[in-house]
Amino acid sequence: MMNDDRLLIKPGEAPKDRYKIDTSDGAQRAIEEEDGISFLDMPSEEELSLDGVRLIEPLLYRHPILSQICKPCEFPLGDDVMMTTMRIWKCLRHYQKNWKSGVVYYLTAPQIGVPIRVFSIRVWKKHFMTLANPEIMESAGVNGSVEEGCLSLVLDKKVKGGTRTSHFSTKINRAAGIKFRGIDVRSQEQISGWLWDLEAIWFQHALDHLDGKMIVDQATRTERTFNRELLRRLDRERRKRKL
Ligand SMILES: [Zn+2]
Repeated sequence: MMNDDRLLIKPGEAPKDRYKIDTSDGAQRAIEEEDGISFLDMPSEEELSLDGVRLIEPLLYRHPILSQICKPCEFPLGDDVMMTTMRIWKCLRHYQKNWKSGVVYYLTAPQIGVPIRVFSIRVWKKHFMTLANPEIMESAGVNGSVEEGCLSLVLDKKVKGGTRTSHFSTKINRAAGIKFRGIDVRSQEQISGWLWDLEAIWFQHALDHLDGKMIVDQATRTERTFNRELLRRLDRERRKRKL
């Protein structure tokens, strides 16, 4: 373990390789990427079989659930939250394994059709943190330089020799660092900590979904006009899938 001095993370510093998590029992745990992450991780294949869990494709832009304000989860978290979480993991795993067109950093409950306040975001390079009732307590700085995409704004089309992917992406002014709080779904512990840079952006993107907001709504009129054809195709695909 690290000594206490190294656990301190102040707003304005970008601790890319170290994090502090406060747990509800008052303990502070610091985690570095190479340390075993005991309670924030998506379970491994061996730990939890997702075989019986139905794979749900992410809902596409303009689905009514994507514009709803999602309901907070009751504590202790119920079976519905756990099932939703497993479906999120199933979908994340599916994209991690099979999707060649990009990398998925976050997925939220409304995107798989459940309007509750749960999401999973990638932290510490390859680990996913799944939170119920996530909140931002404090924020620091501004970062408007990250191009954000969204699984609800992706169209994969089979073409000769592979898949052609079209997707909407845009840059949004976000906080550069955030202090978050939420219930870690696996441990049912209230946790909090600072996230910076990409991870802070992903958190804010995912939290927006829980408030019914998508990046396309926050894009400029010019960006929407430029992507008009893609947005139309997404709309058609959503109807075709009867979503
Ligand atoms: Zn999104």
